[in-house]
Amino acid sequence: MRIYAYCQECNRHITGKEGVVHARERDFYKRSQIRREVKREQDAMNRELGLVMVIDGEECIGGDMSDLIKVGQLADRIPAPVAWEVHCDECNPHESPDGDSYCGGCYWFSVDRVSNWAELVEWQRHLGEKSWFEDTNWFDHVIPDLDKSTPSGLRFRPPVSAT
Ligand SMILES: [Zn+2]
Ligand SMILES: [Zn+2]
Repeated sequence: MRIYAYCQECNRHITGKEGVVHARERDFYKRSQIRREVKREQDAMNRELGLVMVIDGEECIGGDMSDLIKVGQLADRIPAPVAWEVHCDECNPHESPDGDSYCGGCYWFSVDRVSNWAELVEWQRHLGEKSWFEDTNWFDHVIPDLDKSTPSGLRFRPPVSAT
């Protein structure tokens, strides 16, 4: 089944290598770092507050609700997942200083790498191995954005004016 990519800026149907799916590296590395810091602090706090229990040889977290909430609230510092974007080359705001269409500072791939369902699954597997994958909104945004209602195929970001 085909996947059609549309530029999120001009809604143009992007074909071949004329556009990219991309996310800002600096942003997801930063989120990744904060997420790890928070996890470390939460682990330390869980131990301090005596919330770690061993049940059947497995470590579990449990105990006083107000303590659990206090630990959970540390996660408020983690920024929202970094958005994947889909742009045609003309609308791509991330051109490199030397003016070629290379998407400087992004993790990117050209839209034709995900032109069907099998390729999308393969990319997802590949991306899933990255330590920062969960710092992007792939599952919250890219996957739900695939419009399965079109009989001819799947779409990244259906155009706003679609009839
Ligand atoms: Zn465009
Ligand atoms: Zn970019």
